[in-house]
Amino acid sequence: MSEIVTSLINGRRVAADGGHQLPVVDPASEAVTGVLREADAAEVDAAVSAARKAFDGWSNMSTDRRNDILYAIDSHLRAHGDELAELEARTTGLPIAGIRPLMDRAAENFRRFAEVASTVSGETYTQNAQFLTYTTREAKGVGALIAPWNAPLALGSMRLATCIAFGNTCVLKPSEQTPESTVRMVELMHEAGLPEGVVNIVNGRGSVTGEALTTHADIDMIGFTGGTTTGKRIMAAAGAALKPAILELGGKSAAIVAPDADLDRAIDGTLLAIYASNGQQCLGGSRILVHKSIADRFIAEFVARARKIRIGNPLDPQTEFGPLAFQGHRDHILSYIDVARREGVEVLCGGERPAGLDKGWYVEPIVALAPNNRTRVCQEEIFGPFATFLIYSDLDEAIAIANDSAFGLVSYVWTRDLSTAMACSRRIRAGTIWVNTPMMRELRAPFGGYRESGVGRDGARHSADFFTEAKTTSIPLEDTAIRRLGA
Ligand code: NAD
Repeated sequence: MSEIVTSLINGRRVAADGGHQLPVVDPASEAVTGVLREADAAEVDAAVSAARKAFDGWSNMSTDRRNDILYAIDSHLRAHGDELAELEARTTGLPIAGIRPLMDRAAENFRRFAEVASTVSGETYTQNAQFLTYTTREAKGVGALIAPWNAPLALGSMRLATCIAFGNTCVLKPSEQTPESTVRMVELMHEAGLPEGVVNIVNGRGSVTGEALTTHADIDMIGFTGGTTTGKRIMAAAGAALKPAILELGGKSAAIVAPDADLDRAIDGTLLAIYASNGQQCLGGSRILVHKSIADRFIAEFVARARKIRIGNPLDPQTEFGPLAFQGHRDHILSYIDVARREGVEVLCGGERPAGLDKGWYVEPIVALAPNNRTRVCQEEIFGPFATFLIYSDLDEAIAIANDSAFGLVSYVWTRDLSTAMACSRRIRAGTIWVNTPMMRELRAPFGGYRESGVGRDGARHSADFFTEAKTTSIPLEDTAIRRLGA
């Protein structure tokens, strides 16, 4: 065992002694590589106090000075991109070739939201001739931020950047499954000049550390990225305490392949949309809706390509698909093979342990063909490399299937016909529609979900609105009459 992962408060890792301990397991070898020491309620309280203490200094700092620090963080994280990518690949099982660019994206989040903070401005109202009324936007306070395990740095940095760029301070809890890389990233942020207490990390299980954080009386808002069931629980707690919450949750997104699509590009795009990041992504295109006139050819080609995906050690640059993140998650995904068969879903390939990989949470990418969209594999988020095909007859039917879901995070459409693209853009109820492209993330644009995929949006203006309070000030331009009581 090499490392004990602890919390990081006021810029320093806390002592490793005592406390509840959880194993840190390498998904590629199943070896226990470290120990996570869980933060209890007292440690969460210390982290929130540190964030509260740092709030005045950070929120009152000029935006230019704060942005200098955020730009320095961007540069320093980029300079350590290889180190962070290796740590991330080892702990999550994500192939290093796929996640190396995400390390730069994680760094860029700090630059991008610093730029947004530079443009935040208020309004003036002069309609009432005797008064000048203006608005200012102020930092909201201390954020409780929670991140999932599937892309700890890409998602954790988004949570952090949207919060601290506007002058807030925070406590972030990474997932107990993948805690190491976030602690290292925040350590690097301090090396780049982040004042102590602005970002604090607490590590531990959701039911212990997470709950102590999101229900802490001295937090001002909650930023959550994770599953829908957890999101509902957090929203209920936030409601009871009257704290605003932004929730980025699960998905069961449809990819519609029209008969006029560029089928080679559609094959590439649909494969990537479901199998990138080992299939563990909220925006996975897990339901692939293909027109009946092209279905046989398209599905045969997709299965042939899925069988050829290079599975292996996440640290090998040639690997396209690594082990799933942890044993419980691997078992959860495999359980859907039986669920599928019981409902008449045909499993076309995948689900086996790949030859030659005797250790690690490896699974061959799964492709299935469902008789209809009401099956559980089409309705429930599996959150793994499980692609399910559905065959449709006309566009109205495809859009109806896409919308027949509790979720509404993203949707993909592959077509050369502008009217098909526009119909999908207008009629599909999802937060983002990607036309002829998989997963283009424009950081300035809002990102978030309809229905059970979330509440609120990340993005330039949307994050600025959520993470600041609007304040109205009115000043009379001359001595106005004041009604005199008791005169
Ligand atoms: P999860 O909900 O199990 O856990 C997410 C985080 O919440 C973890 O840090 C966990 O410890 C914490 N948590 C759990 N219970 C808690 C509680 N009661 N109080 C406070 N914190 C608690 O999700 P996961 O399995 O880590 O991540 C996968 C899910 O995240 C999928 O559903 C996926 O779609 C979703 N996700 C959404 C987005 C998005 O942007 N919409 C991005 C990535 C992942």
